[in-house]
Amino acid sequence: MTAFVDVGFKQVQEYLGRSRSLWGRRGASDLLLHASDITGSLSQGADELGIPRIKKTLDEYQPDVTVNQDALDIDGVISLTSHDSAKAWEAGLALAREMRALLPACTVEVSLYNQPSYAACLAPGVAEAPSSRLTFWPRPYEFPLHKLCDECGQSGASHDLSETGSQVCPDCWQRCSRTPRGQLFPALKKSDSSQAGWRSGFLAEQRLWMAIDAQHAGGRELEVVKDFAALAKMPAMNDDAVQHRFSEDNHLATIFADGNGLGGLFAKARERAASDGTGESLDSLRALSQGIKEATAEALLKATLKILRDDDAQLPVIPHIQGGDDVLVTVPALRAWRFLRTFLEVSQERYAAFGDPDRPPTMSAGIVFCHHAFPIGDQVELTEQLLRQAKKHVQGNGMSFAWADVTWDGPRPVTGRPPWTLDELNQQTQTLNAAVALPGSTRSSMRTMLSDPDPVARQTRLRHFVTRMPESAPFLSGILGANWSRGTSLDPAETQKVLDTLSLGRWWSE
Ligand SMILES: [Zn+2]
Repeated sequence: MTAFVDVGFKQVQEYLGRSRSLWGRRGASDLLLHASDITGSLSQGADELGIPRIKKTLDEYQPDVTVNQDALDIDGVISLTSHDSAKAWEAGLALAREMRALLPACTVEVSLYNQPSYAACLAPGVAEAPSSRLTFWPRPYEFPLHKLCDECGQSGASHDLSETGSQVCPDCWQRCSRTPRGQLFPALKKSDSSQAGWRSGFLAEQRLWMAIDAQHAGGRELEVVKDFAALAKMPAMNDDAVQHRFSEDNHLATIFADGNGLGGLFAKARERAASDGTGESLDSLRALSQGIKEATAEALLKATLKILRDDDAQLPVIPHIQGGDDVLVTVPALRAWRFLRTFLEVSQERYAAFGDPDRPPTMSAGIVFCHHAFPIGDQVELTEQLLRQAKKHVQGNGMSFAWADVTWDGPRPVTGRPPWTLDELNQQTQTLNAAVALPGSTRSSMRTMLSDPDPVARQTRLRHFVTRMPESAPFLSGILGANWSRGTSLDPAETQKVLDTLSLGRWWSE
């Protein structure tokens, strides 16, 4: 028998969500990656955050306990192995304590398996029933007279954040990047990229920056935008994009995308690896995990290249989080649909290689358009709600998205608006181009007419409107069919479709 110990972060989404600020979420997401990649490249460059302490703790148990080379490369999990079960367990507990010392608010679980092989640990019934398991819960807030953290409001404040003048708890303090973002990228450009070292809080951005740089002979050293206002100011893909006249270049879009059907896929692959116990099936399980990560990274890179203008001096994408199959990014509003379409198309192409050919994994996204000053915490919450809608809509069968335009629709998901699939979007490109060509006043008038509660009145008013404004005809027939004006009423589903296409068309730019 061999001992296998997994030390892993649990309840990660809740943990990330303790902080409503973007820096807090980014910092925490990156710290989890750093902390679980102690023998990999990410452990470099996080010295100031104390990550090497985790590595040092492990060193004290070597060579009796080593990193399990067979283990799957799962973000947020360290796998150990040893012939000495007691030592392995002890090392696991020591690592967990070290992680908790660095990130006091996270939950860490240590599981010990005594099995003939690593593959055997993956079997159904075994994975859920380790020989020993211990969970380190977040420390409770025990001293009620203490001032609460200004950021999370859940733990006692202990550190001053000089930039904002606020007081934060030890966990939020760890999440702050020690290098201001403005200083990071000049340093990256001057040095050989591979030597620059990873900086917590900017991992996703650094990765994308380097990938873009590597795409261009001689490098393409783009600046990173200073803030959301600067990102929103970046021009549309086409200089003649008509939306300029009403957008005033102050809108952006935040997109949260996540894969569907991957849980089931991994469960099947794990079961196979456990039942036949061969090196090949373990390899294919590892290849699946790696393949999904690479597919997502490629979709992000290709979507970024698709919205990169030749004359751009800045990176038009701010990636906040990129881990496994999920991505959280912000882009200029007028480049958002092009970005999303490419992202979903590339994901679809790449995901086709995995799982059941009739039903490969898919990708869903929530997308929020708003003024750049709309708080990022609210943007992220709204994208999460929309992402859930989009996922539910396709139930893993197809690529889907749901959107809200805060300025046009209000700050919550629109009642009655169904999510769209990528196929629907691709079928509607002509109609959306027609929507873009409509004057803003025409769109507003149509919207007002469609709010009439009487389906017959809606139809009559719209028909009358088209005779006065014939330029709106291609748009309406694109949605309702060529003979729509012969009908006597406009039913709620048709009405919704016209309203939704108007909303989507606001930031559409081919
Ligand atoms: Zn806090």
